[in-house]
Amino acid sequence: MNNVAVIGLGIMGLPMAINLVKAGHNVVGFNRSSARIDELVAAGGRGAASIPDAVRDANVVITMLPDSPDVEDVVSGPDGVFAHTPAGAYWIDASTIRPDVAVRLAGAARDAGLKPVDAPVSGGEAGAIEGTLSIMVGGEFADVEAIRGVLDAMGSTVVHVGPAGSGQTVKAANQLIVAGTIQLVAEALVFLEAHSVDTEASVKVLAGGLAGNRILDRKAAGMVARTFEPGFRVDLHHKDLGIVTAAARAAGVAIPLGSMVAQLMGTLRAEGHGSLDHSALLLLVEQMSGRSHA
Ligand code: NAD
Repeated sequence: MNNVAVIGLGIMGLPMAINLVKAGHNVVGFNRSSARIDELVAAGGRGAASIPDAVRDANVVITMLPDSPDVEDVVSGPDGVFAHTPAGAYWIDASTIRPDVAVRLAGAARDAGLKPVDAPVSGGEAGAIEGTLSIMVGGEFADVEAIRGVLDAMGSTVVHVGPAGSGQTVKAANQLIVAGTIQLVAEALVFLEAHSVDTEASVKVLAGGLAGNRILDRKAAGMVARTFEPGFRVDLHHKDLGIVTAAARAAGVAIPLGSMVAQLMGTLRAEGHGSLDHSALLLLVEQMSGRSHA
C-alpha cells in the first residue's frame, strides 16, 4: 500500500481520493478550500494544512487541479510539491493541462528526483465516484507499471499511451470528441422538440443505433429537462478547447468542427454560463433557433 497525497479535492479529486482510501492506501489530502478536506477526513483520509505537510511522507503525489497555471503554481517554488516530496516518489498529474506544459513540468520533476506520470482522466464525476475512469497515461513504462495499482483504484480503463505529455495529447483528442458530440446531441434534441417528437422515445432508439454514444446515455435526459448542474463546467471545457486548438495548430492539423464548437463554448461562457455543465451548449442552439425559454 502507498502513502498517497492528493492535492485538489474538487468535483473529481475528492471521489478519486476516496476510492484510494477504499483500496487501502494511506491518503492525505490538501485543497484550497477546507470543506472538501473535511469530506476526505470523514471518508477515512487525513487532512493536510499545506502542500509541504501533504507530501512530506508521500511515495505517490497526485495533483487534480483546474488548469496549467494551477499545476505549475502547486508543484513549483519553495512551498511546492517538488521542493518537499521525498526523492524517488511518483508524481501523477491527473489534471487536464497543455501537453507542452506537461512535458516541461515532467523534466522539472525529474530534476527534483521525482518520477513524473501524466494521467488525465475521462468519465466525469460519475466515473470518478464509481472508480471507472478512463485514464490516459504518459510517462516511462517502468514508472507507469510501478503505480498501476494506484491508477487501477481510480479507473477501469488505464492505458499507457507513450512518453511524458502523451496522456495530455490523448486527453485533448478526447475533449474534441466530447465537445463535438455534445453539440450534435444538443442540435438533435432541439430539432426533435421543434418537430414535437417524443424526445425520451427518440433518445432510446437513437442510443441503440449507429448514433449511440455516451453523451446520449449520460447527458441527454438532463439536457431535455434543462438541468445543467455540473458535472463538467463550461469554464473547464473552454480551457480544454483552447488546448486542442493550440495543439492542432502546432501540428498543422485542421479541426473545422472543433474550431466551431470551441467558438460556441466560448460564447456560452461569455454569456455568463461558465459554471453550468458543458451540456448547456443546448441553450445556445435554442437561442440561435429562436426557441429560448430563458
Ligand atoms: P474543480 O474546480 O471542481 O476542482 C479543482 C480543485 O482544486 C478545487 O477544489 C480547488 O479548490 C482546488 N485548487 C485549485 N487551486 C489550488 C491550489 N493552488 N492549491 C490547492 N487546491 C487548489 O475541478 P474538477 O472538475 O475536479 O477538475 C479538475 C481537473 O480534472 C481539470 O483539469 C478538469 O479539466 C479535469 N477533468 C474534470 C472532469 C469533470 O467532469 N469535472 C472530467 C475529467 C477531467
